[in-house]
Amino acid sequence: MNVATILKHKGNDVVSVGPDATLQEAVRLLAGKRIGAALVLSEDKSLAGIVSERDIVRAIADRGPACLQMPVTSFMTRAVETCRPSDTIDQLMAQMTAGRFRHVPVVEDGRLAGIVSIGDVVKLRIAETELEVSAIREYIAAH
Ligand code: AMP
Repeated sequence: MNVATILKHKGNDVVSVGPDATLQEAVRLLAGKRIGAALVLSEDKSLAGIVSERDIVRAIADRGPACLQMPVTSFMTRAVETCRPSDTIDQLMAQMTAGRFRHVPVVEDGRLAGIVSIGDVVKLRIAETELEVSAIREYIAAH
């Protein structure tokens, strides 16, 4: 099981905002799409950063609601860690744990190929465990 397995199920869509978006626009997007992070793409569509609900909570705590009118680029994380479709789920989990983030964009041959969240990882792990349990049950029943 690897990152490509997750993308096969969830697809390659990435939710993003442009560099001119305000934090308010990012908040509306996250709420509307029921997701926890959006990528910030430059005009040439290159990855400029990531903004997650945690950045928004921190921004409001530090600056108050007026920050919602400020550019998303003021609050995003610029040093975005990415993964590859060939990375294993164990590698992805280790990366999320070490970096303390729950979203990782997937890059293949320099191009954005999707985004995976901790929710996707947990979903896949549960499916894997259920498969193993039913295989063990079948084995026990047959012996
Ligand atoms: P999250 O747990 O994904 O809500 O993010 C927690 C913090 O890490 C926020 O400041 C995010 O901007 C940042 N972050 C989220 N994903 C990544 C990533 N893939 N690489 C670097 N920073 C990230």
